[in-house]
Amino acid sequence: MADSPLSSKNSAAAKRPVVIGLEVHIQLNTKTKLFCPCSTDYIGRTPNTNVCPICLAVPGTLPLLNDLAVALGSRMGLGLHCEIQNYSNFHRKNYFYPDLSKAYQITQYGLTIAVGGYIDIEPEGRPKRVRVHHLHLEEDAGKLVHPTADGRLTGAAYSLVDYNRGGVPLSEIVSEPDMSSPAEARDYVIRLRQLARYLDVSDGEMESGSLRVDANISLSNPDGSLGTRVEIKNMNSLKSLERALEYEISRQNKVLDSGGRIVQETRLWDDAEEVTRSMRSKETASDYRYYPEMDLAPIVITDEQIEDFKRAMPELPWEKRERFAREFGLSGEEVAILTEQKELARYYEETIAAGAPPARAANWVRMEVLRVLNETGTSISDFPLGPSVLAELVKKVESKELSSTIAKDILDTLSREDITLDEAVKRSGASAVRLTGCLLDEVVDRICAANPGVVETIKSGRDKKGGKMKFLQGLVMKETRGQADPSEAAGSLSKKLGA
Ligand code: ADP
Ligand code: MG
Ligand code: ZN
Repeated sequence: MADSPLSSKNSAAAKRPVVIGLEVHIQLNTKTKLFCPCSTDYIGRTPNTNVCPICLAVPGTLPLLNDLAVALGSRMGLGLHCEIQNYSNFHRKNYFYPDLSKAYQITQYGLTIAVGGYIDIEPEGRPKRVRVHHLHLEEDAGKLVHPTADGRLTGAAYSLVDYNRGGVPLSEIVSEPDMSSPAEARDYVIRLRQLARYLDVSDGEMESGSLRVDANISLSNPDGSLGTRVEIKNMNSLKSLERALEYEISRQNKVLDSGGRIVQETRLWDDAEEVTRSMRSKETASDYRYYPEMDLAPIVITDEQIEDFKRAMPELPWEKRERFAREFGLSGEEVAILTEQKELARYYEETIAAGAPPARAANWVRMEVLRVLNETGTSISDFPLGPSVLAELVKKVESKELSSTIAKDILDTLSREDITLDEAVKRSGASAVRLTGCLLDEVVDRICAANPGVVETIKSGRDKKGGKMKFLQGLVMKETRGQADPSEAAGSLSKKLGA
């Protein structure tokens, strides 16, 4: 704690509780934009090719609502335990910026599709419930590009605008100010992202901008009332979210310690300098002149539709965690790792369905499969070794046909090369010597015959500390190139030598 910006020698600072509320934008996984048929696939596209008169705001065109965006937004709302509203509408949020073709953004305001939910978080093992104020739908803006002759993206003399992203559907999830540390904020985002991915609502990638976080942070007054908040934007990783919040806590404490006041403003996180900088004083709702979007009918979601959405909900992350612990008898840590991505959880369950024992399969997936995925930068969906093959491999270890060392090598081979399990086993040489039962006894006989002195010491009971026995065991393992099971080798030796 000594070098953390949170710690302060000033005792007043230590008494100011931190209050954080997050606004998280999640890009909805639709093929087309929110109000027009343009593709949402904007990453890496030639600028201004995914556009049409509607998203370019040519006068006379009318927006047409994408039903899938409404369904996905509702799904996310249900995942957050929100109440889905039968009736909501769109507003125009007016402001001028070159990336906003219409000079207003179509967003929901006041009446939104989902209200009043929560998500349970557990940073560093401390459970906490964070309430969700509401979830609303809105369209994304385009992007400004600042080119320079040498290709750098800063210091340009002029800006260009790319509208490919303009009109892509977003859901914005606004939390209550319930978080009290950067670690809680981080865990909240991790769990929202996991939920969005479980629900196939979004890929939730922060780096590509599918998930964006604006953080509101204040330090409470001595009487416990909420302090003035600052909104921080421009954080594009979990790490920058935490750093920005830590920086802001220390900055606000310093301002208050020196008798100053916090001004309500929007600040930008500078990832390179690791500071937040004032961007503009906070605008209020009236600055935006919100008014109803008369070109769009209200969103009506019937009770029957809400029931359909509920029926279509898949197993949620916390439900899966609870079931894995109960059905497979796994520890909390094992469960957390195996259910982190639903694709990995499915892989694990299919390995079990193919006959691998749950506890052993959990170890293999956790220790070996994840290791190879990390080393090769592959996702589980692209992992060439299918769950049924892993199950066969695990069963071979279980039946002692393969030592776990060799089985791990085989797993590596199979993840690199397109060969069958049988071929890989053959190539490993493991099948040439079946190192259990009689074959293992044969090796033991040979080792004993070659070391009569040692054998004599053991037989006459002079190997008090068991060192000679260990020595022979080592020779057996060496001779079998690790293909024997160590405990079986020991068993075979003691049987032969009566020790
Ligand atoms: P606005 O509409 O002006 O953005 P809201 O009241 O909707 O303001 O709040 C936006 C976000 O700011 C919410 O996530 C909320 O939890 C958070 N927030 C509100 N007050 C505070 C505060 N005093 N400290 C930290 N966060 C706050
Ligand atoms: Mg806001
Ligand atoms: Zn369009």
